[in-house]
Amino acid sequence: MSAYTHEIRQQVFQQLDQVKLAFAARGWFPGTSGNLSIKISSAPLLVAVTASGKDKTVCTPHDYLVVDENSKPYEATTLKPSAETQIHTAIYRNIPEIGAVFHVHTVPNNIVSELYGNQGYVTLRNQELIKGLGIWEEGAEIQIPIVENYANIPRLAKEVERVLNPQVPGVLIRNHGIYAWGKNDFEAKRHLEAFEFLFAYHLQWLQVQHIAVQLAEQHAIQPHNPLTYRTAGQL
Ligand SMILES: [Zn+2]
Repeated sequence: MSAYTHEIRQQVFQQLDQVKLAFAARGWFPGTSGNLSIKISSAPLLVAVTASGKDKTVCTPHDYLVVDENSKPYEATTLKPSAETQIHTAIYRNIPEIGAVFHVHTVPNNIVSELYGNQGYVTLRNQELIKGLGIWEEGAEIQIPIVENYANIPRLAKEVERVLNPQVPGVLIRNHGIYAWGKNDFEAKRHLEAFEFLFAYHLQWLQVQHIAVQLAEQHAIQPHNPLTYRTAGQL
């Protein structure tokens, strides 16, 4: 990582703008929720992060600030970092090789996190887009951790730290959203998109599977149709 300069800060803010607008176009920031960060330097840890309470469908000169490893503003500013910045810095401290962390609230990631919240993880398997998470083995299977949505952010950050698995670039927070990361903003975006596809697929699969079982019982479709025998909870 290069030393911190005004030019680097502006460049990183522009990268955040691009990701922000792409996600905003998909409706991934309802009610000003969600937050994004890109690492500027590792030692000391400096991170550009979205300011709290901003409408992320637009770009203004006051959308981001730089924070240190304690999630405190690095420079004098009237902007407040998002309350959840502590989760970002916790992830950067624990997985030093990553360069970007993105957090969004979507209906699919919320439902999946609630559906498997008691289990503490959701298993993904048999899906081409697992490759989008950087896992290339045939028939790969991964488990995404799910933590409870503690209102106390330091406690929530500790929970996220506890379940971090460097092989799986994401953590779900129950009925809240997902944190996904990568070695840079391009990779973190790819990971988040892959997760969201897998969650949306899984929920639609469960719905269609339910109908398929009924159709098989009515002999309207073959009982060995894949939809009627794959186990719920598997992707
Ligand atoms: Zn959130």
